[in-house]
Amino acid sequence: MERTLAIIKPDAVERGVTGKILAKIEGDGLKIVAIKMLHMSKGEAEGFYMVHAKRPFFESLTIYMSSLPVIVAVLEGEKAIKKWRDLMGATNPKDASAGTIRKEFAIDIERNSVHGSDSPESASYEIPYFFSNIEIFF
Ligand code: ADP
Ligand code: MG
Repeated sequence: MERTLAIIKPDAVERGVTGKILAKIEGDGLKIVAIKMLHMSKGEAEGFYMVHAKRPFFESLTIYMSSLPVIVAVLEGEKAIKKWRDLMGATNPKDASAGTIRKEFAIDIERNSVHGSDSPESASYEIPYFFSNIEIFF
């Protein structure tokens, strides 16, 4: 069993497709073991995306991620990290395969509707960034 962090990003929450995205998660055999809505400050978004601090899109990304509330969730399952990344699709929706969330919902490479941890190391940074142990169930 593995755990991964999922975020439903501002563009998707704003357009009211949170429920549709959560249904796809549950329909793919991933179990939601923690979930909440929150509005990150600019500094909190910068801390979350620390690994991208030197990238040219960092400033725009962290303004966007702190612009409106998001849904953060912990997903659990066999190979949950890869399973969730596969369901999300490619970072750029232009490259995302049919049937993926980003193909269906993303607006552009930045406003791409969802986030997922990309490795066990990133999951172990990202999950406790938002959740304490008593907020994670099962
Ligand atoms: P992923 O979310 O697929 O793991 P990255 O970790 O590379 O992608 O990037 C983190 C987030 O930064 C992306 O999901 C997207 O919102 C934004 N982003 C990535 N690349 C670009 C880019 N070239 N221009 C604008 N925003 C970007
Ligand atoms: Mg990433």
